[in-house]
Parts: sequence; C-alpha cells; structure tokens
Amino acid sequence: MTMQNQKPRSDAKRGDEILTVDSLSVEYETGANPVRALRDVSLSLEKGETLGVAGESGSGKSTLALAILQYLGENGRISGGDVRLQGESLVEMSGKQLRSIRGKEIAHVAQDPQRSLNPSIVVGRQITEAIKLHQSANEYVDALGTTARERTYEILREVNISDPEHVYDQYPHELSGGMQQRILIGMALSCNPDVLIMDEPTTGLDVTTQANILNIINELREEFDTAILLITHNLGVLSEIADRVAILYAGEIMEMGPTDTVFDSTANPYTQGLLATVPEVDTQKELSSIPGQIPELDNIPQGCIFADRCEFAEDNCRESPIEIEQISENHQTRCRRWKTVAENPIEPETDVSRTSERGDKVLEISGLKKHYDIPGPVDTFLGADPPVKAVDSVDLALYERTSLALVGESGCGKSSLGRTVLGLTDSTDGDISFRGTSIDEMTDEEYKRFRSECRIIFQNPESSLNPRNSIYELIERPLRLFTDYDESERLERVAELLSEVGLSPTYASRYPHELSGGEQQRISIARAFAAEPSVVVLDEPVSSLDVSVQADILDLLDRLRDEYSASYLFISHDLSVVRHLCDEVAVMYLGEIVETGAVEDIFENPSHPYTESLLDSIPSLDPQFRDEQLATLKGEVPSPRNPPSGCEFHTRCPDAREVCTTEDPELTASATDDSHLTACFRTREDHEYWSSPPLTIDQSDEE
Ligand code: SF4
Ligand code: SF4
Repeated sequence: MTMQNQKPRSDAKRGDEILTVDSLSVEYETGANPVRALRDVSLSLEKGETLGVAGESGSGKSTLALAILQYLGENGRISGGDVRLQGESLVEMSGKQLRSIRGKEIAHVAQDPQRSLNPSIVVGRQITEAIKLHQSANEYVDALGTTARERTYEILREVNISDPEHVYDQYPHELSGGMQQRILIGMALSCNPDVLIMDEPTTGLDVTTQANILNIINELREEFDTAILLITHNLGVLSEIADRVAILYAGEIMEMGPTDTVFDSTANPYTQGLLATVPEVDTQKELSSIPGQIPELDNIPQGCIFADRCEFAEDNCRESPIEIEQISENHQTRCRRWKTVAENPIEPETDVSRTSERGDKVLEISGLKKHYDIPGPVDTFLGADPPVKAVDSVDLALYERTSLALVGESGCGKSSLGRTVLGLTDSTDGDISFRGTSIDEMTDEEYKRFRSECRIIFQNPESSLNPRNSIYELIERPLRLFTDYDESERLERVAELLSEVGLSPTYASRYPHELSGGEQQRISIARAFAAEPSVVVLDEPVSSLDVSVQADILDLLDRLRDEYSASYLFISHDLSVVRHLCDEVAVMYLGEIVETGAVEDIFENPSHPYTESLLDSIPSLDPQFRDEQLATLKGEVPSPRNPPSGCEFHTRCPDAREVCTTEDPELTASATDDSHLTACFRTREDHEYWSSPPLTIDQSDEE
C-alpha cells in the first residue's frame, strides 16, 4: 500500500467509537402492511475496527448499509432509532450535508460493480472525478506535487491493477468482474474515508482476487485506522479479517461479539446453523442446511423470529419477543436457551467418504483445443492479432460415477472447456470420445444419444431458464427431444423430477420469475436429469446461491449423482465446494491443465505453485489457520492471445527460474502416484531447473 500521502480525516483515534447505530428500525411500504426490514438494531464501530455482518439473503444486511448511508429508496424509511457518525446524527442531516460527507467521510462499495460504475465514462476518470469532488484538485496537487490523474494511477496500483495507465482509459465493460470490483474499491479509497461500508465486496470473485481484496482491507485498517463495516454471506471471509461479527436474521441481530468467540463459542442456533452450511477446504465435512425460510417481514410472528426453523425451540419461545442479552463482556445473543445451545454445538460428521465405486471411462478428451478469433492467412500476413487460445491441448478422462472438478481463476478456460466438451461450441482441434466412440465418427443416432446423455447446468438459473416457458415446459422439453415417452408419461416424469429435486409437483404450472434463486436452480437440475444423463457439466452451479441454499443444492447434486450413476464435470472457482463434492480435480491455467489427480491428494499435497497459491488464498473457518495472512498471487491471468513463453505461469510464479522462461513443462506423473500429474520442472529432481538461476518476480507491493 502506498497511501502515505493520505491523511486521516477525523481526529478520532484507534479504538474511539466512530459510527453508532442506535435501536435502528427500517420499514418499506410495499403492500397492505409495511415490510419491517430492520427492527431495533444497535451496533457500533470503532476507528481501526472491522465489523462483519453476516446472514442469509433477506436478513437485512444490505438494508442496514443503505440505512446508515441514508440511501433508502422512495418506499423505505427509518421508523425508529438513529445513526451517528462521530456523534452527529445522519438521520437528521439535510441532503446537502449528507452529500458533503458521503464518499469523503463515509464511503460505500456496493455489491454489483456493473451497476455502480458509469458505463459511459472510462474508469480512471471516474476515480479522478471522485478525488476532485471530495478533495479539491488544486489543494491536492499543491500538497503532493502530483496530479489527480497520477494519484489515480497510484490508487489503481493499490488495488493490484498492474497496468494503470492502460486501464485508466478503459470502459467498465472492457474489464473483468474482479477488476470492476477493484476499481470500485479504489474509488471508495480515493478520499481515505473514516468509515468504509463494503457490501459483498468479494462475491463472485475468484479466490486469488478475493485474497487480494481481503489483504487490501486489512492494510487499510492497519495503516489508516479505517473503520470497516463488511457485509458478506461468506463466513470464511469474516473469520479471516473481521474483529467482531454481527449475525443478522430477518432484520434482527441474533448474535454479536468478537469473531473467535462467536465462531468458536456460538451461543445462538441461527449462527450454529449458518456455520454448519459452510464447506471447508481443510476438512471433508457433512453439510447441513437450515430448514425452512426467512419469515415474511410484513407479518412478523410473535415471539422468537427464528422459532419456526430452530431445533432448540420450545413453546415459550413463541410467547413474547426475545430480547438480546449480554452473556459476557463483549458477547450478546438473542436466545432464551443460549446456554443449552452453547453446550450442544453442531458437530458435523467429518471425513465423509464417498461409497460409490469409480466405473469405466465414459468421456475422454485428447489434445482438445478451442481457439477464438483465428485470423486467416492474409490477416496473419498483414499482422493481425494471434487467436485467443481459450483451451490448448487438454487431455482429460471422466469415469462413471465420479466427479472431476475443473478449477482455476476467471479467464483460465474452464467454461470454454466445459462447453466444447458438450459440443455447444465447435472445437478447433483434438478429439472427444463418448463411451469409446469419437463424436466425429458418430452416426446421427449415436450423436443424439450423446446429446441426451451429456447435459449442462449453468451458473445463473435465471438467465438459463426461458422466462416465457412454464416449469412443466422447461422440464418436459428434453423428454420430448430425447425419449419416447407419451404425454401422460411425460406428465408423470415431470412430477417425479420435481419431487426428486425437493419441489412440489404443483410447481409445474409456475414460471421461473415466481421462484427463488435456489428453486430456479432446482428446476435447472431437474431439466438436466430429465433424460437420465450419464455426464453432467456443472458450470459454477452454486456460486450465485445463498449459503444455506448452496448446502441444499450440493446435497441434492451428491444424491442425484449416486441415484443416476452419473459423472460430473464440475467447474468451480470455489475450492471448498470442490473438496466437498468431487473425487478428482484438474487445475487449469491459461487454457492448459497444470496439475491433476485425486482431490485428497491435490488438496493435501499440491505440487504445482499455482495450485499452492489457489489453496493458500482460501479464507478458513478453522481457528488454526485463521490468523495466517492469505497468500496473494501477483497480477492478472495474462492474455490467452499472447501467453508468456516457456512455462506460461512463469510471470507470476514465486519459484520461477531462467529455464522456465524458455521451456514448457509437460504434465508428468509423480514418482509415488501415477495418477497425480504436474506440469512443473520443480517436481523433477534431475531437471536443469535446479541449476538454473532464479527469476526475480516482484511479489511485493509496488511503491
Ligand atoms: S429463543 Fe427459542 S426459538 Fe429462538 S433461537 Fe432460542 S431456542 Fe430457538
Ligand atoms: S515450471 Fe517454473 S515457472 Fe512453471 S510452475 Fe514450475 S517453477 Fe514455476
């Protein structure tokens, strides 16, 4: 970090209370009854502190952020309580007063960078404008001897954008989601605010980008005593960087205290339930979801708001409101049975091992390439750009009843590989064989069988389900295309599939927009399994879902794989989910497989530096790993149009040597396990790598 030129705005010192939320209640006018989105929420934030706020979707996390910023929409209002910034009530401030402190003293990083950035202005100028607006460009230049544009370059470097001069002039749509999020964080940091409110700042980002952003948040706190309110559903993220956490449920704080205390000595059934939904990369544990749904907030039930989902509930939990209780100096909970809860933590079963046996090879990929924008000979002669090598000479095999994970950062070619394997896009070269027959040599009948037996589930069910089709039509379509079922058999099969994915057959008459995200993904799964597939490609199937819903869907996928004896090609950037569901893993970098083997083996003994970096970037709930600084991988994935020479990872590899810049390592089996393959010279004892001089890769922060 290089923000030494920035001065803290307020005179408050580390440990001083800077933000106070006092008995805050918020209502939205939507129908007959107001939606009581927050009720009597009290919390405080000290200078230099990170307070995490967690809970399921609908718990009120984002409403809390918007209420603090006084950004509630037209139908929202503060119905009680106050929000104070250094003692001054934000609720009582005029619009003009609020505009003068927003961005400058209290800044917000919103959940969706695409919506927050102006699509018609280059991103650098958006940061420069923020600096000028809040800091006065002239004063800024006088103090630093630099221009606002130069300061913008510094900020871009601070958020790990390695080519700021180039990125400055790019529009938001030209950048990846991770880069957009970093631009937004850079904009919020540009004025070094006293309070930074971050709403799901790492959701949807891959683990290395997430680790970068979490380290930036930590550095902010350390260097500038910024007070950070971090909203997320990712408990691993909070475990890694939050000093304290507040667990929110249906608009009420259920538990609050120091992070270690709340996570290790949990005194609320809702917190226990949330923790049990989280897959962990360090252990193979059984996940359990929280049964039921968040109640309707326009008709608040009497008594404990969590009672309908609580396994500790007794009759008197429903009789009168449950007050939040101070159970130790810093620890509060809203549960009349907290002692019993604390004495009975959920102990998930660990070392859950799969019982189904790996069968025959069902799908084999050899030398597969998928290149985009391939120039013709004349264009090449005229100096056209080379093609984008999204997938480059990949060999893989998928066996019956196994799940093979494809992991890697955004832009490494995972999704392109998944789509090419299923024939959704043509390959450039190489071969795909299904049950021993190359798809290039299949008869029409064989190809139809391949299409019916190999299905895909996409990341975002909302965009993959045609909104004009009923649920019945969506699930029935593959039955019409790939089976001989008559109409009554199709009706029966759709009802059966709905039951299998945990939905009532009455859902058949509904439309996708009437369903929650989790229900929509269940429909996508039912559709994929309709014609009894043997291979299912799952492209980030749970990354857009809430934690509890994610646990349910993972459980469903686990069960269906066994019931249908199916094989999964599971594309994910979430290694915790991969560890939970998959048997084998292939790590991709710049269109190539750099390491592959059994999940247990790769996670316990990674041998490629890229795999090591991915694993070290994952925040952990486990106390023994919690305090370790997350490893970060410098820079972005290079362009697959112009990949680096030699080992393509050498520009980011902490162990690179001279030889790595010219020679390309091949996948080679380890000496002790011929199913564990790694493309790195470091694994070969007799390679000239060991006598080659080390490369200097700057892994430190840039000045
Ligand atoms: S008060 Fe009762 S219902 Fe509410 S969380 Fe505690 S045990 Fe469960
Ligand atoms: S071959 Fe060299 S650059 Fe490539 S991963 Fe191994 S050590 Fe790093």
